[in-house]
Amino acid sequence: MTRYAYFEGAIRPIAEAKISVMTHALNYGTAWFGGLRGYWNPSQEQLYVFRMRDHYRRFLDSGKILMAALDLTVDDLIAVTVELLRREGYREDCYIRPVGYKSDPVIGVRLHNLHDAVTIFSTPFGRYIEDEEGAHVCVSSWRRVDDTALPPRGKIAGSYVNSALIKSEAVLNGFAEAIVLNQDGHVAEGSAENFFLVRGDTLITPPVYANVLEGITRRTVMELVEREIGLRVVEREIDRSEIYVADEAFFCGTGVQVVAIASVDHRPIGSGRIGPVTRQLRDLYFRVVRGDAPQYAHWLTPVYADGDRRMATPAVAVAV
Ligand code: PMP
Repeated sequence: MTRYAYFEGAIRPIAEAKISVMTHALNYGTAWFGGLRGYWNPSQEQLYVFRMRDHYRRFLDSGKILMAALDLTVDDLIAVTVELLRREGYREDCYIRPVGYKSDPVIGVRLHNLHDAVTIFSTPFGRYIEDEEGAHVCVSSWRRVDDTALPPRGKIAGSYVNSALIKSEAVLNGFAEAIVLNQDGHVAEGSAENFFLVRGDTLITPPVYANVLEGITRRTVMELVEREIGLRVVEREIDRSEIYVADEAFFCGTGVQVVAIASVDHRPIGSGRIGPVTRQLRDLYFRVVRGDAPQYAHWLTPVYADGDRRMATPAVAVAV
């Protein structure tokens, strides 16, 4: 159960972290956010946050798109997050949600002349998609928001209405998730995950200019597959029908992790079961994020210092 949040400059009980109904971000979607995972490693008795620095760099970049003026640095955000997780005292996997938002209680659509605030909370977290080894997926009837209208490069709250339209249509039609095409009709990504397919000895994903989020897991997968699995990695446009003839396809993201796609629009992908590349990648990914692959330890931030791993409530208040 979530007990604390970073709110108005300090870590406080979650019940005190409240905003007004007049808040600009609630009325106009003028917020931006991040999503990180903490992985509990029972044999090391350690909680590792994956690629925290990269996530917070992107968080600040998303804020730039919304003209945010924050006095928090990446290092400040990392320090606050570590302190927040220590207070929660997690001994299980968790999800971390930083949110930046236009905090003024005013009417008037704009980005300028508004105050920006940051809050961070976390929650225990398991799977995002139930069948991680064989999700049944459709192509959405919606199109991805475009950089010319609502940039999907950043995690901007308002643009997640597009994601919600995509996800609900898919789930209510009996699918686990959807692949969404961009305004040009090429594959962009999933509602909240990046998309890859395997053809022969090549791993293919849409480029960053295809109206996709610049995913941290996407970058991780590209590096792991090239270096450890030995496939060629290519960023290029993908047409809808190319998915149908792929050997393998999968989604990746902080929430979904790596999810094999069993079918798209009722057509089995490859054998219709998780393929060898996706399986190898999933195994490797989970070893990396959980701290069982020492060569990738530089991507992990350990939360607990020696001696305080079971610490529930340290006395210090962090104000940044
Ligand atoms: N695309 C979208 C639209 C997302 O919301 C997410 C989740 N953050 C991703 C891709 C995956 O990004 P990441 O790997 O950085 O979590």
